[in-house]
Amino acid sequence: MYSVGDYLQNASNKYKDKIAIIEENKKITYEDFNKYSSIIGSYIGEKIFNEPVIVFMDKGIDALITFFGIIYAGCYYSLINPELPEVRINNIKNTFKASLVITNQKYYALAQKYFKDLDIKMVEDLKKGQIKEDVLHHAHEKHLDTDPLYVNFTSGSTGIPKGVVIAHRSVIDFIDVFTKIFHFTSKDIIGNQAPFDFDVSVKDIFSSIKVGATLVIIPKEYFSSPAKLLDYICDNQVTTLTWAVSALCLITTFHGLSYKVPKSVKKVLFSGEVMPLKHLKMWMEKLPKAMFVNLYGPTEITCNCLYHIIDRKRIYEKIPVGIPFPNERVILLNEKDELIDQPSKVGEICVVGTSLGLGYYYNKEQTNKHFCQNPLNPNYLEMIYRTGDLGFYNDCGEIVFNGRKDFQIKYLGHRIELEEIEKAIMDIAGISRSCCIFDSAKEKLYGYYVGNIEKSELQSKLKAILPIYMIPTKLIRVKEFPLTKNGKIDRAALKELKEVTYV
Ligand code: AMP
Repeated sequence: MYSVGDYLQNASNKYKDKIAIIEENKKITYEDFNKYSSIIGSYIGEKIFNEPVIVFMDKGIDALITFFGIIYAGCYYSLINPELPEVRINNIKNTFKASLVITNQKYYALAQKYFKDLDIKMVEDLKKGQIKEDVLHHAHEKHLDTDPLYVNFTSGSTGIPKGVVIAHRSVIDFIDVFTKIFHFTSKDIIGNQAPFDFDVSVKDIFSSIKVGATLVIIPKEYFSSPAKLLDYICDNQVTTLTWAVSALCLITTFHGLSYKVPKSVKKVLFSGEVMPLKHLKMWMEKLPKAMFVNLYGPTEITCNCLYHIIDRKRIYEKIPVGIPFPNERVILLNEKDELIDQPSKVGEICVVGTSLGLGYYYNKEQTNKHFCQNPLNPNYLEMIYRTGDLGFYNDCGEIVFNGRKDFQIKYLGHRIELEEIEKAIMDIAGISRSCCIFDSAKEKLYGYYVGNIEKSELQSKLKAILPIYMIPTKLIRVKEFPLTKNGKIDRAALKELKEVTYV
């Protein structure tokens, strides 16, 4: 198989009238899913091949039809969340350099404002077109499995979001082992939590279509109302949750499982952050027969490279991130780039294999920094991705996550480079210094700054530049920053200063 488009072709032949996707009160069969994707693919394929296309809409059936239309045309997509601030959308637009934007009626006016110079089409109009078999056939013939499939933009320490490029081959190889190991079948009903610009959703979308399951899209608003969320999961008889840790914890934090237990759920796979044992226990008690899995990996290596199936009989101090998926090699390197193979010694988690992304879109510098030649291999080209995560082997030979080398954090489920927030603060007139600190115990983000601008003004200016989840919980103006002996900001001392040095 060379293209993930073949998943949909196969499913539509085999499961024709079966419901492929449910989105609240809307549904679509595999046959119609394939039909509309083919129509959109025909339109795009007549114009472009192997080029980027922006998808500008909320997650849902139309976004998936559009994704597959783009895939059928041999092009690649990036979903841009319309709720992002204009400055960020502009940054992504300038990096991605697409000529075509596909949006829907709801966001057409906004798309016209943001993408003035680009060709903008509405999915509702495109769906009225015709299938052109010759166009689709030609695109399929020319396509390579090493061509890009999607580009997901994540926070970048330079202040500009980084676009991680993932090829078809990486998704095909990963989804193949992922669906086998965790026994995904056509009987599964997969409850999608993750936004479509977040790579957790890649597992939902492509696993579901590969095995001919039904994908139930859970609208994001439901995550602020646990009762509604649990009703929806139960009503749709969802069997599988591949969710971010933060989303699972949200249900337990608000005692959702005391309201209703989603008894149809047989598999719970979580990733993105360390799963707090307390929350995991609550889930496991309520679903005594379900399989629970810790998944680990950054967007750059296509979803996940390590997994650990929770053993109900084992007593955990720390849940390991586990062992590599088949056909993935994960190595730990120490500061001298030497291989670590002894238990308890901490090193950087590095990944080798076809799961590696194609780098950061239009960003050679960042690409070369993170995707590089395996220092252990002087003989031939072998790329590794340096995750920046630290880990060690436990006595069972499993890898245990041990924090980060840099200032990347996970906050409310989002991956954030603290330097990006610091840069955004520094770019505002009147600010001379800034520093962000994340308190993981309290789940709070503090933004310290030196400057002659009021906190309220700074906050409203930041809202225009950064996504809402990147705005510090608390902005703290200080007279000056405490420094370490070698002149760096003394973060520990800054934390201590926090309440005393307001001016
Ligand atoms: P993202 O690219 O948004 O998926 O974020 C990837 C980062 O999330 C990784 O580099 C880790 O720092 C963190 N992460 C992912 N999965 C886990 C996990 N199971 N346990 C701890 N941290 C994780």
